[in-house]
Amino acid sequence: MPDGDAKSLPAVEVLVNLSLDRTFDYLIPPHLIGRIQPGMKVNVPFGKGRKPRPATVTRLIPRPDRGDLKEILEICNDVPQIPDSLSKLGAWIADYYCCTREQALRALLPSAVRSGRIKPKKIRRCYLASPEKAAAYLEKNGLRAKVRSQAIQFITLHPGAPTDTVQSVTGAKPPQLRALEKAGILNIEEVRTDRDPLRHLEIVPSFPLKLTGEQGTALDKIFSMLAPDRPSASPHVLLLHGVTCSGKTEVYLQAIARVLEQGGNAIVLVPEISLTPQTVTRFRARFGERVSVLHSGLTQGERYDEWMKVYRGEVDIAVGARSALFAPFRNLKLIIVDEEHDSSYKQSEAPRYNARDVAVVRGRMEGALVILGSATPSLESWQNAVTGKYELASMPNRWDPSIVLPAVEIVDMRLEKDDEDRVPMFSKRLIDAVRSRIQAGEQSILFLNKRGYSRQLQCACGYVPTCPDCAVAYTYHKKNASLICHFCGRIVPAITSCPVCGQADFHYVGTGTERIESLAGALFQGARIARMDSDTMTNPQKYEEVLSKFRGGDIDILIGTQMIAKGLDFPNVTLVGVLNADMGLYLPDFRALERTFQLLAQVAGRAGRGEVHGQVLIQTFSPENPAILCAAEHSCKNFFEEELPIRKELLFPPFSHLTVLHFDGEDPVLIEAKAAELVNRIAERFPAPLEISDATSAPIERIKGRYRYLSTVRTPPNAAFRAFLRAEVMNWRRTVKDVDLYVDVDALSLL
Ligand code: ADP
Ligand code: ZN
Repeated sequence: MPDGDAKSLPAVEVLVNLSLDRTFDYLIPPHLIGRIQPGMKVNVPFGKGRKPRPATVTRLIPRPDRGDLKEILEICNDVPQIPDSLSKLGAWIADYYCCTREQALRALLPSAVRSGRIKPKKIRRCYLASPEKAAAYLEKNGLRAKVRSQAIQFITLHPGAPTDTVQSVTGAKPPQLRALEKAGILNIEEVRTDRDPLRHLEIVPSFPLKLTGEQGTALDKIFSMLAPDRPSASPHVLLLHGVTCSGKTEVYLQAIARVLEQGGNAIVLVPEISLTPQTVTRFRARFGERVSVLHSGLTQGERYDEWMKVYRGEVDIAVGARSALFAPFRNLKLIIVDEEHDSSYKQSEAPRYNARDVAVVRGRMEGALVILGSATPSLESWQNAVTGKYELASMPNRWDPSIVLPAVEIVDMRLEKDDEDRVPMFSKRLIDAVRSRIQAGEQSILFLNKRGYSRQLQCACGYVPTCPDCAVAYTYHKKNASLICHFCGRIVPAITSCPVCGQADFHYVGTGTERIESLAGALFQGARIARMDSDTMTNPQKYEEVLSKFRGGDIDILIGTQMIAKGLDFPNVTLVGVLNADMGLYLPDFRALERTFQLLAQVAGRAGRGEVHGQVLIQTFSPENPAILCAAEHSCKNFFEEELPIRKELLFPPFSHLTVLHFDGEDPVLIEAKAAELVNRIAERFPAPLEISDATSAPIERIKGRYRYLSTVRTPPNAAFRAFLRAEVMNWRRTVKDVDLYVDVDALSLL
């Protein structure tokens, strides 16, 4: 092609699917002009061999100033193109969370869709092509061609039956069906069919409930925020603070119904852990086939189909975990984030985004209302509501006033001694309470946020077996007599004699759920006991199995970790026992109190959801701790009043943005040196009010054989710092060997 022509061709800017974090320009060849849009997947020649590589178009360049660019090879038609609005959100994520554009883009498209390998599932369905011919065939061959006749009869009764069904019911073989098709008797059509993850569930339609006064007030506020003529400067986020059982879900359902009437789409996010079929069916029961489900428990095929339903506009509602936020709706009017305080909304690998916060951004970009719901809101959202950045609706009472919040009793474990003068796991109070519930035919939940048998083994000489790769003790798992590192997953057989002193005098230190199960078995003989933690719940079927047994009353005591703290709704549970409320209290993390408060308040909410009053017993060695006291009073307000002044004093969130810089590598001296350079550069360039700490050894010094160092940055909103940091991170990737750097923006954990 002559030079002059090339200059007049338009071009595009693309991101190649390699984590390079830079764009490249390509010309649009004449036959593709007018067909290329931002967000599209194309193949471009790239690198030495100019091999075709997939790339995503980020921008059109109508008049490029260079004529020597290479041309796009083709459009990848098999991969769906994300809407432009989502591309913009991806760019925002890359900037805000200091990750590469490619990493951000990857979060937007599920791998099932991105890979292009998953194809729609097709099935073949049989219809009668000509009832006359069918009748004639039966008349003529009825007795001789028995199998074929049966197939015809079956299809007459069940038009559209899948070929598989026809074959298995009548015994017909594929060639026989083909012969009937050839003879003009049958019609076999290939049609797309969805792999529906909920196909096994029986769903009974539900209808809008009559709302309580509090629900009505909350919904009115939502309706006014959904009104098309609302001034654009007013908040687009509502914090719905409702105690457990206040009926938040019913409010969500009626808000969605309004959005559907207006022709809009809605996204509902729930924490992965509470994404039980129970949750999802409530949305299907109200809105039927208009709901798609998106979460990590689906097969790749199911995920592809569910995503494609949104993409093709066949559904209006997406319910799912974190990643459902990126459902490719084009007329989004509502995003609901249930249990907005939940830390599972934060992704732990790049892009380290918090779906709650990105929901607020997507809502602003696309003009959608965002509802953040929780019984125990995060301090961040609470502060935003107090300062008027968000609207607030409160539902302080349970929907049915006769179902009062359970009475919570704090059991001071410092006063408990067993026969051998040791502190027992079960207080006398808790033992009595469980026994009387069993006698009354009611159910109990026992909560301990630690799986395994004991946190560690300890020899009388003091030796504690620890993982050689991570600076943590092994957790002892009795069932398979093994020691497991909960950080890297390393499993070794439990030792039978101490490598230091040669004795075998082991103690169990720090009890886990497995040990509680065996202690409970001895204490409550004859009781039916089940345990629910990630050791026993290895697949979703097991989870459903235990839940349905529990629901059916076939289990008296359910023992579990945080897996049972959330979202479960069982009217016959009248006792919740928290075995050790102090578990998370003394972690080196400024959110330790907030987490403990939220967890206890959530667990306590599991009791007394039916007619019988509930009771909660919290065993603790710190009965005066504010997190425990406020949870016992069911009072978020009191907790906020205790905690907010402390956060303010220390300039921690919500009074600052917290970013953690993580450095890791094999050589601690090198890490320290490299980290200090970066910390100094930042400190010099950004004086107070930005506060940056020296990089110090992380609380868990070593994971998988790599040393870890952390530095924390606290600052008021500071776009200049973020831009600077992002450039540093990108530069680091190119220039620094042997020490890895990643940054965790709005970090939830300091471990
Ligand atoms: P939350 O999410 O606030 O804990 P849910 O929305 O799960 O509460 O409601 C708990 C139970 O109360 C559900 O079984 C729900 O059907 C029922 N419920 C909620 N609101 C009403 C109402 N207005 N009338 C009757 N039942 C209701
Ligand atoms: Zn390990």
